[in-house]
Amino acid sequence: MSFASLGLSAPILEAVAEQGYKTPSPIQAQAIPAVLKGQDVMAAAQTGTGKTAGFTLPILERLAKGERARANQARALVLTPTRELAAQVGDSVATYGKNLRLSSAVVYGGVKINPQMMRLRRGADILVATPGRLLDLHSQNAVRFKQLEVLVLDEADRMLDMGFIHDIRKILALLPKNRQNLLFSATFSNEIRSLAKGLVNNPVEISVSPRNTTAKTVKQWICPVDKKRKPALLTQLIIEKKWEQVLVFTRTKHGANRLTRYLDEEGIKAAAIHGNKSQNARTKALSDFKNGDTRILVATDIAARGLDIDQLPQVVNFDLPNVPEDYVHRIGRTGRAGSRGQAVSLVSADEFKQLSDIERLIKQLLPRQLMDGFEPVHDLPESRLNHRPAKPKKPKKPKPGHKDGQRAPKKVTEGTNKPRVRRSVKGLV
Ligand code: AMP
Repeated sequence: MSFASLGLSAPILEAVAEQGYKTPSPIQAQAIPAVLKGQDVMAAAQTGTGKTAGFTLPILERLAKGERARANQARALVLTPTRELAAQVGDSVATYGKNLRLSSAVVYGGVKINPQMMRLRRGADILVATPGRLLDLHSQNAVRFKQLEVLVLDEADRMLDMGFIHDIRKILALLPKNRQNLLFSATFSNEIRSLAKGLVNNPVEISVSPRNTTAKTVKQWICPVDKKRKPALLTQLIIEKKWEQVLVFTRTKHGANRLTRYLDEEGIKAAAIHGNKSQNARTKALSDFKNGDTRILVATDIAARGLDIDQLPQVVNFDLPNVPEDYVHRIGRTGRAGSRGQAVSLVSADEFKQLSDIERLIKQLLPRQLMDGFEPVHDLPESRLNHRPAKPKKPKKPKPGHKDGQRAPKKVTEGTNKPRVRRSVKGLV
């Protein structure tokens, strides 16, 4: 199948060809024709499936035909949970739309609002935004939605996890009733389904990778080790295995900072990316990592969610996540688009429960490999596959503040040791 057969026109096809994409990914093959027809879409798809082009390409195609955005108006609105994802979607819009006379803008919190207000005066055919900042801009009359034709909720599950549900509902109330709605989410929980009920009309449902399966191209293994020896083990692995570009996950922001300092002292260039870093620091850390100036990027789950780093060869779980679904998201950073990747977890005895939850979720036991000189004193018990379903968990209450670049500088809760609770419900279709 080709992109041309999906109904996209020459300026967009040229931009796609320039990216080197030969064939549409499964989500693109299904979403593009549906969006072009004007249908609502509900898609279960994670980062790495090509979902961004899946909605951006047909939106550009549709918008290219209509009247341009007037002052302070937006014709398509893409809501994302984090600043990083907003910036990435904004980049994709610019890349795929480079041969069209359409304008786009990206707005998110954590940076000055004035330049964004100035930018919106000219209107934006496509506006990419995080929810809190969008509401702030709206309350200052910097953006209006009279011309709005399409709404995209990207990573809707993450937005709910981060407590954005009230902001999303407020935004929905501001939009014209007659519009196209596209909902993308890695998982389809009951909460997402209830949000979808009042949002999408007779949607085309698309599911590309069954939920909670891990990419086959990722080699996964665990290395049992005592907790306090993890930093030294990681250093040894990086040096011995000559890993050049490694994304390392820690559970807490402090853990990320501590590990970054440790690696730097060992002469391994590392940077941390998490919710306490300024937007500029986060953008710089990411671009240094992408262009190879920084060898190790240490990230917390929320900061890393949605990061698109092409063909990342190596992911390390320095700590196992408390929420087993996060393991799947984490290792989704590697082994993209057919490239091989490796995901290693450093697991100490006190993380046995997390390990068991993960193995139950992905329905496989992770192979173990001990490293010479790092054999643990505190044994990691042997795991067995337990087929009992995970205990149902209570839905999480939305938080009053925002975690990621939004308005109120309230207490940041990312990275505490409290598990984030997510319901486990089967994916679509
Ligand atoms: P996404 O799931 O939108 O985050 O996209 C993941 C990655 O896949 C991005 O780096 C895209 O540039 C890349 N990509 C998107 N569509 C295609 C395609 N049809 N062929 C190859 N790569 C693609």
